[in-house]
Amino acid sequence: MKTIGIIGGLSWFSTSVYYSTINEYTHQLLGESHSARILLYSIDFHDFKLLQEKDDWTAIENLLSDIAIKLENASADFIMMATNTPHLVADSIRKKIRIPFLHIAEETAKEIINHNISQVALLGTRFTMENDFFKERLSQFGIGTIIPETKDRDFIHQSIFEELTTGVFLKDTKDEYLKIIDKLKTEGAEAVIFGCTELALLIKAEESSLPVFDTSVIHAKAAVNFALSD
Ligand code: GLU
Repeated sequence: MKTIGIIGGLSWFSTSVYYSTINEYTHQLLGESHSARILLYSIDFHDFKLLQEKDDWTAIENLLSDIAIKLENASADFIMMATNTPHLVADSIRKKIRIPFLHIAEETAKEIINHNISQVALLGTRFTMENDFFKERLSQFGIGTIIPETKDRDFIHQSIFEELTTGVFLKDTKDEYLKIIDKLKTEGAEAVIFGCTELALLIKAEESSLPVFDTSVIHAKAAVNFALSD
């Protein structure tokens, strides 16, 4: 079994979902008393958030690359970042390590094409919805992306940073998200990507009018499959 190097704490609420999903799925596949081999580097989200607010992606890239190198030196067999937004600098991190890097958007795209879906809505931080790093990966797999209108993107972005990443999950916020998903359905989305690892902590898949692809669970299970592959 390979050792999974996880960059976590972005936020810790969703990293705990990764930790439990990876171990539960490993146990499901291997049985007996098996669990996963994990090296977790969990960072202080506050420091990271300040860098994001300043749009200082060079500092973010340096911070995350240093952690990836530390995990590699500590004998991780591959690296993953348990979050979507920092994948904005994933290509640079990949170049600084020798071991494989499991990209959240690539794993999500593979899962979506297994369901024969060609047009999806993407929800996440403004960085994730408005930049190309996620959408471009989907388009390489022939999947088109719809994002919410500006005022809905503002609402989503703000709720992620002011509520979800601080552990606040409110019904009014959930209802607003469900309305946004309804709108995206009328615009032609066949499914919705929870492209922020905290979204599934707010909304259950069965509450959504569109089928849900939750990046955190998809990514965590992909890590287990990779850890158990030859
Ligand atoms: N965990 C979130 C994501 O999946 C947002 C927090 C962050 O900016 O890393 O994008």
